[in-house]
Amino acid sequence: MAEQHDHQHDHQHDHDHEPAQGEAQPVKVVGEEPDLSKGTARPITVYGNPVLHREVKDVTAFDGEVSALIDDMFQSMYAAEGVGLAANQIGVDLKVFVYDCPDDEGVRHVGHVINPVLEELPAGRKRVLADGNEGCLSVPTAYAELPRPDYAVVTGQDKDGNPIRVEGTGFFARCLQHETDHLYGFLYIDKLSKRDRKDALRQMAEGTPRYATVANG
Ligand SMILES: [Zn+2]
Repeated sequence: MAEQHDHQHDHQHDHDHEPAQGEAQPVKVVGEEPDLSKGTARPITVYGNPVLHREVKDVTAFDGEVSALIDDMFQSMYAAEGVGLAANQIGVDLKVFVYDCPDDEGVRHVGHVINPVLEELPAGRKRVLADGNEGCLSVPTAYAELPRPDYAVVTGQDKDGNPIRVEGTGFFARCLQHETDHLYGFLYIDKLSKRDRKDALRQMAEGTPRYATVANG
């Protein structure tokens, strides 16, 4: 997923009470930051590339290859200044995503999920939709308003094959849903009205990405 667009802040609350940017503040990190001495950034696939529009394969081997893929995915996400990246966004046909994404409380969440499945909301938990501006590295330079549930749980595996569960709220919940959708062949623009989707594609056609992309054949 792309970083928050400025318009995002039009729709958020309580930001008045946050410390000013640049002011020293402890940032809580949940998860493990990647070793950036490893991995290589790869160019990003964009809308129209078939690998983005179909479900990709489950990971069945938890070996050095999948660890190396995760290293490359972190490098690629940071190079493109994203907050989340799915494997098919670097052209790899496997269910893996990585993230380094803030929630609305200023907590930074960092990690990866293999074979993610978006869980149903627990019984009794009310489904609350949050408004928000969304963007995607694979739809460069475009943003659109898309309401999404403000809470999400993804289950899957880590790089060693151990079961994991990642819970998110606010902007991080949006990220978990966005990245899981990628691995099943859906972009966020597929969830927009016909008119908004057309507008997002127009924004993409008119803009120039600030990172390397894979040309569509
Ligand atoms: Zn995306």
